[in-house]
Amino acid sequence: MTDTLIKVDLNQAATDNEQVHNRWHPDIPMACWVNPGDDFILETYDWTGGAIKNNDDASDVRDVDLSTVHYLSGPVGVKGAQPGDLLIVELLDIGAKQDMLWGFNGFFSKNNGGGFLTDHFPSAQKSIWDFEGMFTKSRHIPGVRFAGLIHPGLIGCLPDHKMLADWNKREQALIDTNPTRVPPLANPPFASTAHMGKMKGEARDLAAATGARTVPPREHGGNCDIKDLSRGSKIFFPVYVDGAGLSVGDLHFSQGDGEITFCGAIEMAGWVHMKVELIKGGMAKYGIKNPIFKPSPIVPTYNNYLIFEGISVDDDGKQHYLDVNLAYKQACLNAINYLTKFGYSPAQGYSLLGSAPVQGHISGVVDIPNACATLWLPTDIFEFDINPSASGPTKFLDGSIDLPIAYDK
Ligand code: ZN
Repeated sequence: MTDTLIKVDLNQAATDNEQVHNRWHPDIPMACWVNPGDDFILETYDWTGGAIKNNDDASDVRDVDLSTVHYLSGPVGVKGAQPGDLLIVELLDIGAKQDMLWGFNGFFSKNNGGGFLTDHFPSAQKSIWDFEGMFTKSRHIPGVRFAGLIHPGLIGCLPDHKMLADWNKREQALIDTNPTRVPPLANPPFASTAHMGKMKGEARDLAAATGARTVPPREHGGNCDIKDLSRGSKIFFPVYVDGAGLSVGDLHFSQGDGEITFCGAIEMAGWVHMKVELIKGGMAKYGIKNPIFKPSPIVPTYNNYLIFEGISVDDDGKQHYLDVNLAYKQACLNAINYLTKFGYSPAQGYSLLGSAPVQGHISGVVDIPNACATLWLPTDIFEFDINPSASGPTKFLDGSIDLPIAYDK
């Protein structure tokens, strides 16, 4: 029987669990040790540690303390791992916690986190998704049901001291270009809500003062939010410290490319069954700076898409130069506008693009002055025909159901 090396109790505060942490720092002690070749299970909290509830009130999303995230299970020490190695992590299986067979998607208030389309959706809203085995549906977004593409939003190894210092330096330099921006350009270390695993006393306080926040993806992987890093994938992580220090969390039942809603995909508490191996000296042998991975042999087969194009011209008609971020925004807004013709609210459309197995593609980056991005909406997730036709759209929804909203106080 496979050992569950880290257990989480959803009735216990994540901060009381010493095998959980919410900052990156090389001095965080290993929560447990394994050997190369071992397979084992780690349970995880949802990324907020249970702050978002299964109800019809979005005030929890509005009021969430984002300095507390992400709650990660680990670090797992791998015996024999040394800086310069590659740690192979095979995701043998991933599932939801049996006592939490639901997940949440939401978008933050512009004043507390924001999101990709925060200028269009400035208030906190959320949708709740129920799991039926491998499928999910939401009482807040009728008319869709789809198979999960379960994956960890966040997985990576501990940085070494030099790498951590580099992260803090370069991110602070960015913040300094506009320190009062709302939402902020990046998040600097913040000691008071740092949870450093087993660390206690002065050592804890010292590490907490410089521990990197977990929001961005970095060289070690981290919060990459890649929906295709699903169960069955095999990932090759650079190792920076003795023992590697692998941590995982922020599990998603499903997500659209870009995780555009930011709070987040379909967020869940769950477990990951994984196996680890080492390639000694693998970073130099293969020229690896950032992780690489092999995708899963099992993915939901959605082959029919309606594809929305976006170009780098903003809402005011201003031309931007090859701006892929703006082009993807416009593709998303075009898809949301289309969905409203079938009776969805704009908020339902936005939430769906963050939750469903939507693909995002960078389609063109050389045709000056416009970048072209595309948003691929799988049409088979809808319980009605979403395709354009000569007879025009039929309203499937009457507007009586919408996402809960919580305005700023
Ligand atoms: Zn997430």
